[in-house]
Amino acid sequence: MTNDKNLIFGSRHRKKEKISIKWRIFSGFAIFTAVILLMMWLFQIVFLDSIYRSIKYITIKESAKQITAKLESGDIEATAERVADKYDLCVYIISPTGNTLLSVDNLKNCAIHHITNFSIYKIYSQAVQNGGEIIEIFGYDDEHNRYYSIGNGIYAEKGAENVTEYTSESMLYATVVTYGDGVEALLMLNTIITPVDSIVMTLNTLFGVISLIMVIFAVTMALILSKRISKPIELLNNEAKLLAVGKYDVKFSESGYREAAELGLTLNYAASELGKVDSLRRELIANISHDLRTPLTMIRGYAEVMRDIPGENTPENAEVIIDESKRLTSLVNDVLDISKIESGNMQPHIENVNITKAIENTVERYRRMLEKQKYCFEFAADSEYMINTDETLVMQAICNLLNNAVTYTGADKSVTVNILTSPDNERYLRISITDTGDGIAPEKLPYIWDRYYKVDRDHKRSAIGTGLGLSIVKSVMSQLGGNCGIISRPGVGSTFWIELAK
Ligand code: ADP
Repeated sequence: MTNDKNLIFGSRHRKKEKISIKWRIFSGFAIFTAVILLMMWLFQIVFLDSIYRSIKYITIKESAKQITAKLESGDIEATAERVADKYDLCVYIISPTGNTLLSVDNLKNCAIHHITNFSIYKIYSQAVQNGGEIIEIFGYDDEHNRYYSIGNGIYAEKGAENVTEYTSESMLYATVVTYGDGVEALLMLNTIITPVDSIVMTLNTLFGVISLIMVIFAVTMALILSKRISKPIELLNNEAKLLAVGKYDVKFSESGYREAAELGLTLNYAASELGKVDSLRRELIANISHDLRTPLTMIRGYAEVMRDIPGENTPENAEVIIDESKRLTSLVNDVLDISKIESGNMQPHIENVNITKAIENTVERYRRMLEKQKYCFEFAADSEYMINTDETLVMQAICNLLNNAVTYTGADKSVTVNILTSPDNERYLRISITDTGDGIAPEKLPYIWDRYYKVDRDHKRSAIGTGLGLSIVKSVMSQLGGNCGIISRPGVGSTFWIELAK
């Protein structure tokens, strides 16, 4: 047992040390938190300036559209003022000749109200070249009280090399507008770009605090969750270790979340099945050793009598020895058959078989064999069926059923074999074997196909069998793609049937 334990739980079975579920959940949470924090950092801090500028660009363009739409209506000024107020803009419309057509000066240090006429001309010609619009960023230098172009310096002088920080930045959007009479003008809008540095600083502090809270939260959640998830599994694992060392009465807990409860339920079922198999195995060993001992004692006893006592060397005594050795053979054969079938070593050998003839011949053999004991065999078939199957396996199943029928049939010793199309499925033929015995109680029917199961263990006739016959029939049928079943009425008799594809 200690060796077994070592094999199951020892290091030989744990080639690579696996990470525990707790650590998996924990690392999952850690990665999740890290990704969230990274995203927050990227979007709130790193990309904040570019996102802010993009929004500014979109609003300035949209404002220009709204103003252009009202170009010739009476409320252009009201619209311009409203838009300028709403988005903190300066608006300026100027004709190519330099006449101011509209001006809303909303901002301190506005770029358009501060740049030179020459710059305006440049902006106009560049906008025409560009297909009607330009966008440019200017930096306001407090010291010289003027704007410098931060971009390529086309519209205004570029700032001195050493000027890297301006008092404020300004975004200028200019577009060429055309009045109904074909007169063109330049619509310019300007908005101040507030430096985001101070916001970034605030966000950085906030980010630090949020990160700390999130890390604490994630660690706590990971600890609670991993404990909750792993606890039922650890419990089941400990119980399964008991099962592994043969304690089949172990009760698996069915608490915790659904999957763990289902696992507990399945393990409980497995444990009870293993327990059943184990107790059947024990019983079988006891039975087989009893079944082996009885004929062996008889054979030895009779043989000794025949050797030692003159006149006892009779054919009757020799017959007892032959009968007992037959019993031994059939017992050994059953045990061998079931182990061969269950180990999958028995490959069906399929060929075209006249199954009606084959069964009729077998029934005939039984009739002749049991004639002296007054058994009465009846055989009927609705047709001569040729089917593709393994004759040896089918006949093994039929013989097992015939043997049972002979063993358990009633006082009239009658056994009936029928071959007909299945009443449930016309693509199958049904071979049924009916006896007139005591039948089987309905509550016992589900178990009769189980290995080593005997309905009435104390019954004399039950002691004859091994409890393997019907389980061999079931295995054979499942190998051949057929079915098997029973209709039994206590006190009247039983009909066992097998079905094979036609
Ligand atoms: P065994 O070798 O003991 O007959 P089987 O697997 O063939 O084993 O049968 C299982 C049990 O089913 C038997 O022990 C017997 O109690 C019951 N049984 C089988 N065939 C019949 C039958 N024709 N009539 C009544 N009981 C039967």
